[in-house]
Amino acid sequence: MTDISSLSLSELEATLLDMGEKKFRAKQIYSWIHKSLVESFDEMTNINKDLRNKLGESYYISQPKIIKKLVSKIDGTVKYLFEFFDGNRVESVLMRYKYGISICVSTQAGCNMGCKFCASTKLGKARDLTAGEILGQIYKAQNDCGERISHVVLMGMGEPLDNFENVVRFLNMVSDSDGLNISGRNISLSTCGIVPKIFELSELDFKLTLSVSLHAPTDELRSSMMPINKKYPISALMDACRSYTKTTGRRISFEYTLIKGVNDSKEQAEKLCSLLKGMLCHVNLIPVNSIKDSEYEKSEKQSIEAFRSYIESKGISATVRRKLGDDINAACGQLRRESVNE
Ligand code: SAH
Repeated sequence: MTDISSLSLSELEATLLDMGEKKFRAKQIYSWIHKSLVESFDEMTNINKDLRNKLGESYYISQPKIIKKLVSKIDGTVKYLFEFFDGNRVESVLMRYKYGISICVSTQAGCNMGCKFCASTKLGKARDLTAGEILGQIYKAQNDCGERISHVVLMGMGEPLDNFENVVRFLNMVSDSDGLNISGRNISLSTCGIVPKIFELSELDFKLTLSVSLHAPTDELRSSMMPINKKYPISALMDACRSYTKTTGRRISFEYTLIKGVNDSKEQAEKLCSLLKGMLCHVNLIPVNSIKDSEYEKSEKQSIEAFRSYIESKGISATVRRKLGDDINAACGQLRRESVNE
């Protein structure tokens, strides 16, 4: 069985021609999957039954099943636990902002990056998601909430640049005018810093916002929190980031998770500022979400504010991430972890 939702329009045309069908059928089917967001071939009412049956024998539409859904009473944030055809589960979060509805999607079932503070990586990576499965999270959530999703962040489970081919295919399809037509400007991609892939991405002209999970200003500390830093240390990462801003003209958002007594001192704020000096960037400070079996705690409110205002005083824009869905908040990855341990 093949995931039909991962095929581009031209691939679908070739498939239909191979089946002895007319080329225009492909556009109809593509539109059912990527605009009408149908979940079965039987919903494709302008496609004859024979062809629908034939498609159903070799292909499936990869929208996930909703296993759990938590809705915040405070701000309407929705957290989904989704399951794919083979039983693999991922999380997605739908957030309501003034400018529209944004969804945070997963790119892998689990993750191999091993960041110490992150729940998604504790069980390792089960597998990469296909482009259709990344799209499917948006489609299912949009069908479920009945409103148009206008923004996408690739910041759920998994490392998007460790699943590069599928993620690039996803980016092409989600911005396609024959699909959801979400422009790159409304898409963010977050990476722990796979340097060669940052260079590759910069050549692809997606106009998206790149978020880089930095979290520490020195190699010693960053390597102790994020194993990827041993392979691609901070200097190499900064070179890639500078090159990214130069090639794309887009600013980078640096994610910095504040952990009490670990990375939140004034000296560390100073070091961070010297790293980022002169770069087209923004710093997004995130009070760490404590996870099971981790000794990391959130920084005090005053240290967070002091850290932020120090960075701003050096002319670098910095915000503290507003917390949505506080009442349903299990740090990213925890819902799946609990469900796998059930
Ligand atoms: N692999 C990608 C994207 C997924 S993680 C990356 O590393 O960027 C999305 C963001 O959440 C990253 O910035 C990550 O470092 C951060 N994060 C993970 N666990 C967290 C926790 N317990 N508290 C706060 N932020 C966390």
